Amino acid sequence: MHEMAITQSVVDAVCERADGRTVHRIRLQVGRLCAVVPDAMQFCFELVTEGTIAQGARLDIEEPPGLAHCRGCDTDFALHDLVLLCPCGSADVEVLSGRELRIMSMEVG
Ligand SMILES: [Zn+2]
Repeated sequence: MHEMAITQSVVDAVCERADGRTVHRIRLQVGRLCAVVPDAMQFCFELVTEGTIAQGARLDIEEPPGLAHCRGCDTDFALHDLVLLCPCGSADVEVLSGRELRIMSMEVG
């Protein structure tokens, strides 16, 4: 379960930025190709934040689809999962996005 490691690094980064203030809410963007299970991440989040300034904070996870470029038919198409296949049937694709993991915003106070 790689959610634990990912969540730990997110919480570490957030707590560092919060600089002692209480964290109320975190908005996270996790590309579909990260293969993160949001429910698992929520679970890990509760464990990881326990005893930190982010304890009890709300975690919002957005999962934008990725984007790939097909060299076979020279078009871009959305990636909704880890199946790297163009609608034309070609597997000769280049992943343009979908592996990003960003902290979009956080509320502290
Ligand atoms: Zn194609």
